[in-house]
Formats: sequence, structure tokens, C-alpha cells
Amino acid sequence: MRYDHPQQRLNRNMKRLALLTLSLAFGTGTGSLLGASGEPAPLLKLRAVPFTQVEINDSFWAPRRETNRVASIPVNLENLVKSGNIRNLELAAQKATTGFTGPVFMDSDVYKALEAAAYSLATHPDPALDRRLDEIIATIAAAQQPDGYLNSYYTVKEPGRRWTNLRDNHELYCAGHMFEAAVAHFQATGKRNFLNVATKFADHINSVFGPAPKRLGYPGHPEIELALIKLWRATGEPRYFNLARFFVENRGKHFFAEEHKTPPDRYDGSYWQDDVPICDHKNIKGHAVRACYLLSGATDVAAETRDPALLKMLHRVWRNTTERNMYLTGGIGPSAHNEGFTVDYDLPNLTAYQETCATIALAQWNHRLALLYGDAKYADVVERALYNGVLAGVSQDGTKFFYVNPLESRGTHHRSPWFGCACCPPNVARTLASLGGYAYAVSEDALWVNLYLQGAAVAKVRGQEVPLSVTTDYPWEGKVALRPLPASPTKFELRLRLPGWCEGATVAVNKQKVAKPVIERGYLVLARTWRKGDVVELNLPMPVERMAAHPNVKDNLGQLALQRGPLVYCLEACDHPEPLASLYLPANAELKAEKAKDLLGGVVTVKGSAEVASEPEWTRKLYQAAAPSRHTPLTAIPYYAWDNRNPGAMKVWLPIAPPPPRANGLEAQAKVTVSFANNNSQPQGLNDGVEPKSSGDHPAALCHWWPHKGRDEWAQYTWKNPVTVNGAKVYWFDDTGRGACRLPATWQIQYLDGGEWRSVAAKGEYVIAKDQWCPVNFDPVTTTALRLSVTLQKDWAAGVQEWKVVEVEEE
Ligand SMILES: [Zn+2]
Repeated sequence: MRYDHPQQRLNRNMKRLALLTLSLAFGTGTGSLLGASGEPAPLLKLRAVPFTQVEINDSFWAPRRETNRVASIPVNLENLVKSGNIRNLELAAQKATTGFTGPVFMDSDVYKALEAAAYSLATHPDPALDRRLDEIIATIAAAQQPDGYLNSYYTVKEPGRRWTNLRDNHELYCAGHMFEAAVAHFQATGKRNFLNVATKFADHINSVFGPAPKRLGYPGHPEIELALIKLWRATGEPRYFNLARFFVENRGKHFFAEEHKTPPDRYDGSYWQDDVPICDHKNIKGHAVRACYLLSGATDVAAETRDPALLKMLHRVWRNTTERNMYLTGGIGPSAHNEGFTVDYDLPNLTAYQETCATIALAQWNHRLALLYGDAKYADVVERALYNGVLAGVSQDGTKFFYVNPLESRGTHHRSPWFGCACCPPNVARTLASLGGYAYAVSEDALWVNLYLQGAAVAKVRGQEVPLSVTTDYPWEGKVALRPLPASPTKFELRLRLPGWCEGATVAVNKQKVAKPVIERGYLVLARTWRKGDVVELNLPMPVERMAAHPNVKDNLGQLALQRGPLVYCLEACDHPEPLASLYLPANAELKAEKAKDLLGGVVTVKGSAEVASEPEWTRKLYQAAAPSRHTPLTAIPYYAWDNRNPGAMKVWLPIAPPPPRANGLEAQAKVTVSFANNNSQPQGLNDGVEPKSSGDHPAALCHWWPHKGRDEWAQYTWKNPVTVNGAKVYWFDDTGRGACRLPATWQIQYLDGGEWRSVAAKGEYVIAKDQWCPVNFDPVTTTALRLSVTLQKDWAAGVQEWKVVEVEEE
């Protein structure tokens, strides 16, 4: 990925000068930090233009936002009734002590849906929705206890146990989502009915947690930090800021070890970002949503305290995130095991977890950094996330949702109407409903444009209300016309983000090309006295780009992905008669963008010609003439739009050459079945012929039995016709340090004999070792099915990279 801006590169000296000037202008030196290059980065502290001041009327977002309003938000509210979330709050209001349903964080989904609905009300008055929200808010208020405490799980299911398990039970997380919703509702309607509930609860929390003599503690799932900042800004009460600061600054004191009596030498708090003091984090780690909500709150706190250590940490962790741990689609968190991070550059495609909420959280964090520093590289991440990973989270009709967002599917991954853990659907809804809030910002004398959305905005610059009108067909075309419309001529800077993906941008003011534009930190700076009638024409060329990944991303070696403008593309099976797995795209194949106005709500596709690799048959052959490849038409669609047509396979990364042919042994002809597979186990990985390099390798397709632990499991090969075999070998998977798969306690091969499973007569031991093939030889059996039977170690799961069988040689 190219995050280094071409214009930035060209103007590095100019930038240095500008930074120097800015840092002098900001004078005191407090709050500056040294970047990797040693340059101080002053805190600009831009103010976002509220989404209520932004109108979006384009062909891209406007229809999606309308679908969000008329389909997704009502669907969210209906599902909260069906799934029992609202019922839990009613039970709490009735002081019931039985009947709670669902996970501990059920309340949070209600709050997020209310937040989305409130944003929608702010731009689309709707008396029926307004009344519905007031009804739900009345239930929430009735569920609040006299001292301000509010959580339906603890009120109904575990009364008397509140604040006893901050690590796992999400009370503070739910509170945070309530505060965000209440602030949104207050700002949308001017009513205080929800805000009063929120401040009463926040005051209760503030009476419990804080510096001694109050309690030490912080949430297992961060969220309340950034929410308290919003509550502080809405109410002006500094105690909410101080409490947010307390939660951020005390994190890393191993409170969860103490809470759960975990011996210090056995405590690894990284999943909760509780392993080291907050300022000592070197890299992004643990659960991805938790990490980015925490970093968002920490950025808010650092913006006020200007704590150099906290700012340095944010800078370090941001670099580690975007330079080593982010998908091309702007998503994060590759692993299902911890819903989060593993090791640098571990970005598998087929098993990418990339939770929708994590992409949203990354966008939220980067939006805060963009405001803090006024550097386009942060808004670049926001754009990448919004146009790709976030938007993929919801179907075109707004009624189905992705929780997990792989970059490759063999055809089994589809959106769901709802989830038992329903964090993602309302998170997408609130993001779309408040999208305009990511687009513009203001500083003392500048209006900053971060997203190019056709429509209008009204921003206050130099005390003047400045309307701005925008005409564009972005992201399909890179031409953007911006018209400032001040009531009287007004001097200010218009700062336009030059997207990191763009080379050769040009700009003209009133038809005059700006020959040597000033560029600062990725923003094109146009300073003048603006008058009605002025027009700025920005042109961002959008050729189809082939994107390569850093060579350390093993999954993408020898592969390229397609991107045009901010959109990442993918192939879907329904556009291709050949299996996607057999296609490759030579590096010089011609590609062109083509408008398809009737496809998927109107998209620009990428068309070209791919090659189909032949899969020769090698039985009893040592050499044969290599079969030539065949051409086949290729159609790529934007990644966000996949899984809206006939269900099938999908791929973002495409090989540039035919994959090396594999020796297809007897196992390749077998059908695979397993005793158990969760949704990210790929049993077909057992016989895909991909030679493992080590047990720790995470192959593209991995067969495992996680989260089953300590039990008996099996994988089975079934053949159409009987086979005669006398050996087998297994390459075990082991993700020590990342997950819960270890070598099994025991294994054996069984064969089907007249409807009965019998053990083979093994010659010698069943080898169990890491990083090698583990063979076994046995007396020949003739059968139609073999089983690899395992007993898992107590408290551990297991997985298999590859399982081969040995055919008896002919006499
Ligand atoms: Zn989620």
C-alpha cells in the first residue's frame, strides 16, 4: 500500500518548513511530540463540522443512507424486541429477578440502535420514530436504580453483584454506549429525558471509581472513555472528563489479575490491553474493537492533557497498526480466536476476521487523530475503512449484516439478518446515519475537507458561517467542484485532502490552474478571500491500480489486488464461469474501468482478461506437455458490494501467475467430512496439497476443531471406489502464543470395514511432533473411508495443516 503521499514526497522540504512555522506559531512546545522522522507534530485540534451541518445528496452514499433510515434502523429496533434486549430492560424496570436473556452486553445494542435512530431524527424529523424512542427511553429510565445504576443483566440476573467482574461483564461498556446514545438524542431533539438518565448513571460511576478513597478499576471492554468525553462536551461537566482520564491513565495496572486472583506470573493482560501501563504500548494488540475504542478515548484525553508520553504511544501504535496490521479494506483484527491481533503482517484472507465493529472503531480513532493533527494520513484511513470494510458490513437492501469480513470466501460466507452477539448491525447504522460528521473540520482560519461528498456543508470559519456546495460523482470519478458561498467576501484557507491513493492531482480556482499549490501534511492549501461565484475544481485521477502487499504478508505473496480511487475491488463467482481458484491475472493484463449503472445500485466495474490455470492429472506420469492457459473475461466489483447477488466464492487478492501444480495423491480425490467445524474452520484445507512450512503457519485453509477442547474428534476421507492404503502422515497445526491449538494427546487411523470403524494395525508408534510430517505405517487395508481420530489435550484444541495417505504400491 502506498500511504506515503506523492505530493508529500515532492514537497517534503516545504512540509518541513511549514511544520517548523506551525510549531513556532504554537510556541510553548508543550504537547508536541517527535515523530519517527524527528519532526515535531503540533496539535492543531480541529473541530469537526457536525453531521447536522452536512447534506449528502450524491449517488453513492445518499441511497445507502436512505436505506439505512427506512430499512436498517427499523430492522435494528425490531430485532431488539425479538431478541429480548428491550424485554431485559422492561424486566429490570419491573424489578424482576428472573427472565434475563442473551449475553451480558444486551443493553449496549439497544443504546447503539437508539444512537443511530437519534442521528436519523436529527436530519429527518419523524414523529413516530421520536415517540418510539421516548417509549424505549422511558423503559430505560424506569430500569434505573435509585442511586443511578443501570444494567439489566445485574439488576435482573445477578442482583447484589454489580462491579464484581469488570473484566468480562461489560457494565462500563454498556454505560458508555448509553452515554453516546443519550448525547446523540439530546443533540438531535433538544430533549433531556435520556441525557438525565445518562448523567445520573455517570455520576454514580464517578462516585464508585476514581482516585483513592474511590475504587481502582476500568472496563474489560473500553468504550466508556470516549463516551464520557462526549458527555463532558455535551454538559460541560469536567468530572466526566476527569473520569475518562482516570480510566485511560490507570489502564495497565493489572487490575484484572487482581480482580480474578490470577497469579502475576500467569497473567497476560494483552487481550484487554492491560499488560503494560497505557503509555508503554509498543504495538496494537488484543481484541481489535477494545483496542481502537481505548485508543479513541486515549486520543481524546491526550488532546486535552497534551501528555507527551500518551501522544508518543498513540503515534507508535498507529504506525504499527497501519504499517503492519491493517487490511487493504481498512479493517483490522485477523484472528477469530481473540477477535483481534496476532503478530505483525499476519493478514490472512480466507480466515480474515476483520469484524465490522473493528473497522468502525479504527475509523473513529483515525478521525480523532485527523482532528488532532490535521494530517491527511489519518483521514486516508477513515476513507479506506468507510468505503470498504465498513460499508461491506450491510447488504444493499439494509437488512442483512456481516460480523466477520473475510477477503476471500469459498462460497459459504453470507450476511445474516441478526446475531446472538449483535454489536455490528447497529454500529453500521449509527456510522451511516452520522457519516457527514467525518467529512469536514474547521480551525481558526481554515475549512478542511476530508471526504468528497456531493452536497453541501455550513461551517463556521473566522466567526462567519460559510456555506460550501460540492458537486462530484466521487468515488466513481475524481472530479470535485467546490463552491464557497460566504455572505460577504471572507478570507480563509480551504484545505483539501489529497488522498494517499492519488497521484497527479490538479486544482484550478475560477478556471485558473494553480501551478504550484501549497501542500501541507497531505492537504492542498488554497488561501484567499473567497466570494460567491468562486469555484474550485479538484481533479483526482483514478486509474485502476494493482496493489501489492509488503512481502512479509505471506498470504499475498505473488498476488495483487485491484483498487480504483478509494475502492478496493473483488471478484465474485457469479460473474465468472470458471472457478475463482483457477484464475490468475498476469501483471501486464489490460484492465479498464466501466460504468454499470444497473449493477448493484450503479457501480464502476473493472473489466479485463484473466487466465485460467490448467490442473493436469499426474497419475502414473513423470512428465507431460504443459497445458497452455486459457483467457477468460474478468469482472471485478467493489468489495463493499459483494454477497448481494447469487451466493458464491469471492476473492480480493489474485495470483499474478498460475499456482505451482500440486502433486495430487489419493487424498485429493477424497471427500472431506469432520466431527465438528466452527465457522472459520476449513476442513477442505486437509487435502488441498499446500505444503506446510511449520506448525505455526496459518494456511489459507485450516482444518481445526477449536473451540472444542479436551475431547475426541475426527476428520474423514471418503472415496467413491475402494482404495488400498498402508500408511498416512499428518502435519499438525499449533498456534502457541496466538491461539488455543496444540498437538493432540493421541491420534490414530481408523478404516471403515463393513459399516464398522476399526483401528488399523499400526507398525510402530503414532508420532506426535511439531514442524514436521508425523508418519505412521500400518498393515494394508482396502476401504472406502479413513478416519484421522484424535483425542485433544485437556484445555486445548487442535488443528491439522495437511493429511496425506499412502497408497499400496502395485506388485
Ligand atoms: Zn461487532
